[in-house]
Amino acid sequence: MYKRVVVKLGTSVLTGGSRYLNRPQMVELARQCAELHRQGCDILICTSGAVAAGRAELNFPQLPPTVASKQMLAAVGQSRLMFMWEQFFDIYGIHVGQILITRADTENRRRFLNARDAIGALLSHKIVPIVNENDAVATEEIKVGDNDNLSALVAILADADLLLLITDQPGLFTADPRTDPNAQLIPEVHTIDESLKRLASGSKSGLGVGGMITKLQAADIARRAGADVMIAAGSVPNVILRAVAGEPVGTRFPAIQSPVENRKRWILAGPASAGTVMVDTGAAHALRHSGRSLLPAGVTAVEGSFERGDTVFVREVDGPVLARGISRYDSDDLKRIRGCQSIEINNVLGYTYGSVAIHRNDMILLE
Ligand code: GLU
Repeated sequence: MYKRVVVKLGTSVLTGGSRYLNRPQMVELARQCAELHRQGCDILICTSGAVAAGRAELNFPQLPPTVASKQMLAAVGQSRLMFMWEQFFDIYGIHVGQILITRADTENRRRFLNARDAIGALLSHKIVPIVNENDAVATEEIKVGDNDNLSALVAILADADLLLLITDQPGLFTADPRTDPNAQLIPEVHTIDESLKRLASGSKSGLGVGGMITKLQAADIARRAGADVMIAAGSVPNVILRAVAGEPVGTRFPAIQSPVENRKRWILAGPASAGTVMVDTGAAHALRHSGRSLLPAGVTAVEGSFERGDTVFVREVDGPVLARGISRYDSDDLKRIRGCQSIEINNVLGYTYGSVAIHRNDMILLE
């Protein structure tokens, strides 16, 4: 049985496909979480539904499709959503605590550790953290954007061993089950590759933000951090209890065996990548096989605009994304020193932040 579980509940699950939050359904989900809590399992909820609750509360107003409209709906809905979770967990004598985060809250390691401490404190007091994106203040730049990716971030912050993505679909299928009668549920996925992503694209549920693609992104991140991931339908009886007991109730993504070490996890979780650094074949080989840092000499091109300390993708020319890491130089500097020997950096820039573009300790291979 798993010991620490993030249960991600999408809007489609919480509304049962209607326009309103479905209270009996939420009570049923809380009951299952309470049972696990009683058995000694640490539970964290990643809940959607703030915007949906706000819309219902204001009686479905016609609003311009702006960020401010969403922020307003979330501001109205989040407190109602939280009040409901508070009531439903209170039935079982369980305290809950609200945590609202945006990507900016995990952008640097200090803030990441701060968020992790808050979650740790709640769990050590047997309080169930109820997490959502802080939609009321989040703008596009600082948003995680969807609660699938947010839940992966929570799994990393909490060091969870299971991320349970509860949705309106039984899992991932070999084809779209709505149009293809031969579509089969895939019980277990070991590699999240391009063909799987193609399969998942296009399947999107009505009310929420995410679809299967964002679930695959979340699964990819969480399993690299050492958590198993399961996608399952909220309509399956006792789905949370059964998933946590290890029953095959959906599509399972086993954790990667040598997970990214703790210190590096926030690179995986936190900041959006601000740009891409292209590297030549020699540098790609050194990163992949020799555990080396990326030197300016191996950089062939720089895309996007980023600051020193921002997270960037590393891509082999014409190849897939190879790694993610923190650049020691901003994009303008890196453009000027690309292809240079490290010893030349000072001559070219008039200063140096050291010989590497991305240090090995600040980098995660993504292959
Ligand atoms: N944070 C949004 C909300 O609570 C939902 C985002 C999502 O469902 O992915 O309304």
